[in-house]
Amino acid sequence: MTELPICTLVSWKDIDRWADTLAQEVLSGSGAPETIVGLTRGGWVPSRLLADRLEVKHLAALRAQHWGVTATPNGNAEITEGLTTSVKGRKVLVVDDITDTGESLDLAMEHVRTKEPLTLESATLLHISHSTYVPTYYAEDVPKERWAWFVFPWNYWEDIRTLVAKARPDGKTPSGVRQLLRDRCRIEVPEEDVLRAFGPA
Ligand code: AMP
Repeated sequence: MTELPICTLVSWKDIDRWADTLAQEVLSGSGAPETIVGLTRGGWVPSRLLADRLEVKHLAALRAQHWGVTATPNGNAEITEGLTTSVKGRKVLVVDDITDTGESLDLAMEHVRTKEPLTLESATLLHISHSTYVPTYYAEDVPKERWAWFVFPWNYWEDIRTLVAKARPDGKTPSGVRQLLRDRCRIEVPEEDVLRAFGPA
């Protein structure tokens, strides 16, 4: 039988709430940074939401790769595109969506540290308690026993397409696949979304 991870569907409402909490945490900590570095791709939307809330105009991207396909780690984490802007002497906050193994953020922090920022902190929306790296700030702590693959709204179609492809050999039909997603991933995916992920008949 195909491996299908337990998943959690994340709504924009959850994201909004976590972004508010995180912004508050940062403000009560060291205050707004001068530069936000968003890890792509997962940290891209969270970093923009945080930049908006913290009134930060300087936003930079850093590309880290770890989990190739939904819920499948791809060997070791790597920085595949470094920072292209100077952060020397600046107060920097590195942002990602979630710390799971924590390797991506750990590596990203190491990379940014070599660029000589004045201060360097990190922030994530979610932090899974088994992560080897603990971000300076996070909005919600997920106990490791409650590990799930979080289907973020910015990764929705990629995740649903992957899960549908994994469930297809056993589920066979769209309704069989939908039932497998319900039973094994514990998520309710609308029928039209399963059909769309199935592709043309
Ligand atoms: P990691 O290096 O394991 O901390 O995770 C690297 C990236 O993979 C994260 O920033 C997410 O974009 C993605 N990721 C890892 N674990 C999960 C998960 N449980 N749910 C959703 N996305 C995840």
